[in-house]
Amino acid sequence: MTKPAYLENFSNPSLARKRASYIREITVSNLEKHLKDFETNFSKKGGHLIWCATYDDAQNEIIRLAEKFSLKKFNLSAKATSKLPQSLPGKLENLGLEIISKKNPISEEKRVLSISEAAFLIAESGNAIITGEALNFFAAGQASILIADINKVIPSGKDLPLFLDFFSSPEKPLPFQMLSGPLSPTQRLIVILVDGGKTDLLPDPLKRQLVSCIDCMQCVSVCPINLTEQIQFPVKSITTPDNVIQHPVYSCTLCGNCTLACPVKIDLQTLLIMKRKDVFSAESKKKHVLTKIFRFTMLKTNIANRIGGKLKKLLLRYLIKETWGKRGGIPDSTPRSFNQLWKVVNNYSTKKL
Ligand code: SF4
Ligand code: SF4
Repeated sequence: MTKPAYLENFSNPSLARKRASYIREITVSNLEKHLKDFETNFSKKGGHLIWCATYDDAQNEIIRLAEKFSLKKFNLSAKATSKLPQSLPGKLENLGLEIISKKNPISEEKRVLSISEAAFLIAESGNAIITGEALNFFAAGQASILIADINKVIPSGKDLPLFLDFFSSPEKPLPFQMLSGPLSPTQRLIVILVDGGKTDLLPDPLKRQLVSCIDCMQCVSVCPINLTEQIQFPVKSITTPDNVIQHPVYSCTLCGNCTLACPVKIDLQTLLIMKRKDVFSAESKKKHVLTKIFRFTMLKTNIANRIGGKLKKLLLRYLIKETWGKRGGIPDSTPRSFNQLWKVVNNYSTKKL
């Protein structure tokens, strides 16, 4: 397994992971309190917090704000793009906003809406932490929106260095900025806090671990599926709806690399197994009755013998085509069953039996 680069940052990586896992567990247990504390302290510093249940709601809020502040241009970071609905840039352009690009740089007018992502939100101080590309996006905006999942909250600033170390290596430290309110009196700093179905995970003792995730992507960096195939990363599939045919969770080899790499010790391997079980049950429920009939028929020799090989293949193809995949053809059924062949080879007649 490729070792995660963050291990080099710690003299005792195992202890660091234990500590991080403990802090995340405590944070998730008091999530509501920490989120409220963040709202109170962030608002005191001149920031504005909007709560949204889904990313579609977040999109509606962004459009509302763009109209309200009569903004002319917008900037959207790659991370925010990956979370928000793909229709957002088109909707903003329909409102008359121009996307900022090399061809269309930021003008003096500065009526810019900048949308990026917050890496962490510190509850006790009300500060938002931005990292990487969000640093360039934030300063440009007259209205700067930071999208943040509810799991981005951490109780205190003293925990921050530990968590930031999981995103970097000694050779490649992570640049970050702590925002303690808007940069100027004319700038608006807005955090859109998105639930995104995370509170639904809280009652389940296994799934609630996912709320501890800090989005460090270390699990992605060590996943052999992610390294070798351009398919949806299996860990992402844990939160994909169950009724998706050919669910990406089937591509996981269950090697366990992601569990070993996760700095907050989320048991991803077990979650993937559970998810595979859920997906399988959801898919098989639809075919439960047909499968029962097929099984009953095939176990009754007299009935099975009367069904020809072509019909058996047709039924089998219908029942297993989605899990079988496109590459392998379904094998032919012989015109005679094993029972019939056995009788022929051994020269038995039905009457003898
Ligand atoms: S267990 Fe699955 S998701 Fe995790 S690293 Fe292995 S293949 Fe990837
Ligand atoms: S699940 Fe993956 S992204 Fe989340 S904390 Fe663990 S390693 Fe990082």
